[in-house]
Amino acid sequence: MLAPLLATLALASPTACPTDPQASAAPRVVAVPALAGQKLGKVNYPDAVTLADHELALTFDDGPDDDHTRAVLDILDRHCIKATFFLVGQEVDADPALVRTIAARGHSLAAHTYTHPERLGALPLDAREAEIDRSFAAISNALAAEPAEVKARAVRFFRFPELVDDDASLAYLREKSVTVFSADYGIDDWTEVGPDELLRRAIAFTEERRKGVIVLHDFNPNMIAMLDQMITTLEARGYRFVQIVQAGG
Ligand SMILES: [Zn+2]
Repeated sequence: MLAPLLATLALASPTACPTDPQASAAPRVVAVPALAGQKLGKVNYPDAVTLADHELALTFDDGPDDDHTRAVLDILDRHCIKATFFLVGQEVDADPALVRTIAARGHSLAAHTYTHPERLGALPLDAREAEIDRSFAAISNALAAEPAEVKARAVRFFRFPELVDDDASLAYLREKSVTVFSADYGIDDWTEVGPDELLRRAIAFTEERRKGVIVLHDFNPNMIAMLDQMITTLEARGYRFVQIVQAGG
């Protein structure tokens, strides 16, 4: 009688998220290596993070934002979702405690330059390198006194401002074995668009692609106003949110 019982247990669904029965308490983890020359994200590149049909990954750019990031963290917690935050170094230095909070709540921390220049490639080469180095250093400094499991949330992934890359910066990132992270799609939530339209885009663009890494911006209250409903709606349509971490990180 033991074998059938074990088979039944093996088929049991994973434990549900306590505050969201549609979600798992332990979403699938996708480990991405930090590799020299690796560039991921369909907006810019042919390659993407390997996801199954109906798998999504949330990423948030330009934080930490003292007014809004905590609201995003609360919504993600409610759905047991772990996201990736592409942080601006000077904002990290301005509020390292908030960065520690993001890491302690299990999200991955990646770099998005130090001052968020609109065109990184328009800067002199040494300034581009400094933007990249200082953005990673700011995150390391913020987590310097944290336990190893929190420090491990810092990943060697970099996203260009406005998703505009340039050859010299790409070469420097390759030298540093940093993976360049674009996105598979966004909803242009950095523009002045209301929550209803952002929600419509999020659902429509997701249904067109059926999987992918989504870029959002945690400074935008209009995005935050629809984030909970976006997640609930996509989950009801069979989508699941995976957690991206650095392989071996
Ligand atoms: Zn940005």
